[in-house]
Amino acid sequence: MPATIEQAFPSDLYGGRLTIDLDAIVSNWSLLKGKLSDSTDCAAVLKADAYGTGQDKTAAALYQAGCRTFFVAVPTEALTLRASLPGAVIYVLDGLFPGTANHFLTHDIRPVLGSLEELLEWAEVCKASGKNNAAAVHVDTGIHRLGLSPAELTRALDDNAVLGPFQPSLVMSHLACGSTPDHDMNRRQLKLFTETTAPFPHIPRSLANSAGVLLGPDYHFDLVRPGIALYGGLAIETEPNPMKPVAKVEARIMIVRDVPQGDTIGYGAKQTAKRPLRNAVVAAGYADGMIRRAGSTDDRPGGFGLIGGYKAPILGRISMDMITLDVTDVPEHLLQRGAFVEMLGPGVAASDLAAYAETIDYEYLTSLGRRFERIYAPLT
Ligand SMILES: *Cc1c(COP(=O)(O)O)cnc(C)c1O
Repeated sequence: MPATIEQAFPSDLYGGRLTIDLDAIVSNWSLLKGKLSDSTDCAAVLKADAYGTGQDKTAAALYQAGCRTFFVAVPTEALTLRASLPGAVIYVLDGLFPGTANHFLTHDIRPVLGSLEELLEWAEVCKASGKNNAAAVHVDTGIHRLGLSPAELTRALDDNAVLGPFQPSLVMSHLACGSTPDHDMNRRQLKLFTETTAPFPHIPRSLANSAGVLLGPDYHFDLVRPGIALYGGLAIETEPNPMKPVAKVEARIMIVRDVPQGDTIGYGAKQTAKRPLRNAVVAAGYADGMIRRAGSTDDRPGGFGLIGGYKAPILGRISMDMITLDVTDVPEHLLQRGAFVEMLGPGVAASDLAAYAETIDYEYLTSLGRRFERIYAPLT
């Protein structure tokens, strides 16, 4: 795919660049799809600007590859997506906000009804129009976020007076512990979902997020809803990551300097030079999604960047707009002013950084700021 650059200014004026590989996203989608039987559909979750990769471009690439069902979190994301993909099926995971059904109908968007109240509101709309307007129903099998209780679902779906012409287009639930395959919760949720939905075989079912796809065919049902794995993230914490990285962040070196042994680096003076150091200051900070927790102190190592294959540990606190890297062991010719350092990407897995930052790679991807030059091109 040729490079597309989304920016208003000359490249040299950006502190860093974010490269997104749409072919890699498509290839990850195909890899997951390849694990499914022919009767299971592979949807794509595009919430939070497609996990930071850009909703419009990612949606277009996946649609072209054959993906027809998309999930976003909120109605505003759905309206944007509808404008770019007239033919897609679009579900809103956060469900039906009060009094908004007309927007869903006008734009042919489907709420994932997450409570009995939402279901009743939608059913009233269907009765008033005499139509079965498509919507999913969410049943809570243990995560205790959204969803009708299994008892509420059973009662509602058995009652024509409640539903009127409405028949759900999908019944779904969400795993709490999919990233930990051995967790009891997975089997318990699977069992409860299977039992709760058994009396309604005419309604397609969906349980699996990315982790659920990798947990195996028992979890697949009629439709799977991967998010993080499409974007190269680590869905199952205990296994090697089978997905391709899709994003790379590179930040520009502003200055390389010497720090005498015993001096401290950065805000709070929490990191002391234990030997004479060379450090490089790069133009990316927590305002660009470089999560502040990944900084280092004398008591705790931080994340790292990568320069020409050399690991450059983060020194001291991450600031809003800059990060200081230890480049003492990096050859001088790689350290020119203006040169790029990889801060996240094929050589610096978001899941590795996330371990230093005490978070998950989802947070890295969705935090990537809007201040970098954004390039759509293959990652090399
Ligand atoms: C975010 C989300 C997904 C996708 O989850 P991943 O772990 O990113 O694959 C699927 N289903 C629901 C209900 C979600 O909220």
